[in-house]
Amino acid sequence: MKAPETGRILIVDDDPIVIRVLASALAHYSTLMFATSGSDALAMISQHDFDVILLDATLPDQSGYDVCKKISSQVEHDGVQVIFVTGRTEIDAETRALSYGAVDFIRKPVSVPVVQARVKTHLALKQRTDQLKLLSRIDGLTGINNRTEFESVLRREWATARRQKSILSLVFFDIDHFKKLNDSLGHQAGDDRLRSVAQLLSSSINRGNDLVARYGGEEFVILLPGAPLEWAQSMTETLISKLYKENLPHPDSPFGRITLSAGVAGSIPEDDNYETLIEQADQALYQAKLKGRNNVVRYVL
Ligand code: GH3
Ligand code: MG
Ligand code: MG
Repeated sequence: MKAPETGRILIVDDDPIVIRVLASALAHYSTLMFATSGSDALAMISQHDFDVILLDATLPDQSGYDVCKKISSQVEHDGVQVIFVTGRTEIDAETRALSYGAVDFIRKPVSVPVVQARVKTHLALKQRTDQLKLLSRIDGLTGINNRTEFESVLRREWATARRQKSILSLVFFDIDHFKKLNDSLGHQAGDDRLRSVAQLLSSSINRGNDLVARYGGEEFVILLPGAPLEWAQSMTETLISKLYKENLPHPDSPFGRITLSAGVAGSIPEDDNYETLIEQADQALYQAKLKGRNNVVRYVL
């Protein structure tokens, strides 16, 4: 049997015959789900990620236009391709659908080859967009999250922690004497060390919401939602000594190897100024450098 093609499709229609026709036309896709009302469709959309939604314009409980508007207004569904499938013949039916955020319009009675062709096109577009989005969040050199992604997650986690009155901790890392490494072993070796450090940090983080990112240059961050400061500090000590034990050569460092300095800060957010957390962790990092490097300092008010 042929393996199903990747694609998550939701069919929304109150007519079982239409559902049957569309389902058999699209049976070769890996995920195919159905809803027969607007509220069912919205409930399913909130629980699953779909690539393409085939949406009937006339549903028993609300219009497809309203459903489409609701989907388009939710950022988490940004990118989902809504195709209207309708028997409506009003002149403005098509433009209305497009103005509510739909990407395409198919008329009933449906033609199977037309449905297949349009779904194929929109799926390909969606998958390419997803890929680009993923790449835009990744640091090209190390393959871990980049600063843009870190800042977007920080904003989100800051708001969540503020709502839940929970602590949000942040660790700021900076490789010690990195400039000298580039000077003595060359930029290529510098790049290799950056990849090794990124790998060490990201492989050591395993709680679901924690995030490791390259902040820039030879600086990395770890965001730890819900982690008390003491815990964040001791985890950072473990990471610093783990890197020390890896003994990655750095001939011009007093330690003779690659080492990290780190600053830890954490608080229960009370305002929307999440940059404070970055500033505090950065100040603590500065203290760690002053104290001789290869160590971690915790920010205290
Ligand atoms: P300190 O111990 O105080 O942190 O000293 P440092 O030399 O690590 O800090 P400094 O900020 O003076 O130098 C950072 C260096 O990181 C300078 C820059 O050439 C290097 N760097 C930044 N990005 C990259 C990169 O992508 N690849 C390589 N190979 N080097 C980089
Ligand atoms: Mg630096
Ligand atoms: Mg440095």
